[in-house]
Amino acid sequence: MAIASSPEIALEDLIFSNAFAGLGERFYETRTPSGLEDARLVAVSPDAAALIDLPASELTREEFIRIASGTAILRGMQPFAALYGGHQFGVWAGQLGDGRAIALGEITNKRGEPWEIQLKGAGQTAYSRHADGRAVLRSTIREFLASEAMDALGIPTTRALAMVANDEAVYRESIETAAIVVRLAPSFVRFGSFEIFAARGEHDAIRILADYVIDRFYPECGAGDDRYARFFEAVVHRTARLMADWQSAGFMHGVMNTDNFSILGLTLDYGPYGFMEAYEPGHICNHTDHSGRYAFDQQPGIGLWNCYALANALANIVEPAQLETIVKTYVPVLREAFLTRTRAKLGLANAEAEDDRLGQDLRAAMAAAKSDFTRTFRMLADIRTAAEAPGDGGLAAAHRESLHLALGGTADGAAWIDRYQQRLEREARPAAERAAAMSAVNPRIVLRNHLAQEAIAASQAGDDEPVRRLLAALRRPYSDDPDVAVYDRPAPAGPPIVVSCSS
Ligand code: AMP
Ligand code: MG
Repeated sequence: MAIASSPEIALEDLIFSNAFAGLGERFYETRTPSGLEDARLVAVSPDAAALIDLPASELTREEFIRIASGTAILRGMQPFAALYGGHQFGVWAGQLGDGRAIALGEITNKRGEPWEIQLKGAGQTAYSRHADGRAVLRSTIREFLASEAMDALGIPTTRALAMVANDEAVYRESIETAAIVVRLAPSFVRFGSFEIFAARGEHDAIRILADYVIDRFYPECGAGDDRYARFFEAVVHRTARLMADWQSAGFMHGVMNTDNFSILGLTLDYGPYGFMEAYEPGHICNHTDHSGRYAFDQQPGIGLWNCYALANALANIVEPAQLETIVKTYVPVLREAFLTRTRAKLGLANAEAEDDRLGQDLRAAMAAAKSDFTRTFRMLADIRTAAEAPGDGGLAAAHRESLHLALGGTADGAAWIDRYQQRLEREARPAAERAAAMSAVNPRIVLRNHLAQEAIAASQAGDDEPVRRLLAALRRPYSDDPDVAVYDRPAPAGPPIVVSCSS
């Protein structure tokens, strides 16, 4: 076997720097976790461990489990809960803040990237507002799996290093048990981190926070006073591209409040999220979202709404007219990003003017037929032109028929496939190359709710192996290997799983 090229790092070797803590207690509350006693390690993500240069073996040590449980801290850690506010369901909710998440500190890896380590579910803080500071096993498994699944799909997201659980009772709609997910992100600063100071009229704090974020994460914005406008533009563009990613993957966040919107354009705070199954553009994945504010097809518009909320918060450090000009670039950036992703999903290497229409018409056919979102896109790679499948092409004909059935077996579906084949005829790429490229962007599996639910039920019964196996598969979503393909299962018939905010 290959020998590791650099010496292995142990937990105790981690060096913490705590830049956010350096901003002062106006931005957070100093708070040590009140952790979970005698917690078990449910699962770890070796790929996330690599982000902080740790071999996965370090994560199974007793010392690590205690850190992940919030019952021990390492030398150099400076734990805190961050302050933020936010617009929840379109309404200013005032002060929120990390009510159950506690950041431990920041590690700079050998590539020079900073990673903040945060425990979600580590007990009450000054921002808990009478809630218990806990997270339940069910929602913690959901966040753990989704974080790592989204990353494997190439979608910017916070990461999950590990999760622990114990038998402590947590009172929600029913009695559940407690867990903690160890999250990693370069920063957990949110749109709401800025909004809270705007609401209080503390504009100097907005500048301090903006300088912190720009210096560390947006150095390309320069040093002058116009750095704030450039920063806002970069955030708007990252947000637009993130929305293009979500719409392309069929991901539904469910609670797009501004306190859940990352200033780095990461998918943040996984609650009642879902991946689209039977395609329904207006699908609402969060059953407490009665108005459908955060329905799938509303997401791009809400991303824009949130950018406006951020613009308002920055109105004292950037000219309002400039903010307005910048926010108007959101739609074109999103359109372009979405079209790029659509071309890749359709296997189109050349750009043609009608490609956008072709993608939209496919989605319309899928919506009419309630096609399985993930499976239908995956099937496109098997489509061949007449020239590529000479003669009657038995296999190609069978693939065409499968896609036709997935599109409801309608005349519209057949007409779309004809158009698609004609479009493919104008592609220069060999079919095999095209198919391989498509199968690297259209996943074989996504985290369907029922798959998460199966793993959750097993963990609730004391068997964490299913969570670990599912994680391993979700890290390779484009693979056809049997241990991945086993999760290529649409939800069984029957009432859908109801996912609420209570977590
Ligand atoms: P979320 O819906 O998880 O994004 O949380 C919204 C706000 O409520 C954030 O300020 C959370 O920290 C806080 N919060 C949610 N659940 C709890 C809890 N169990 N204990 C304390 N604070 C919570
Ligand atoms: Mg949140």
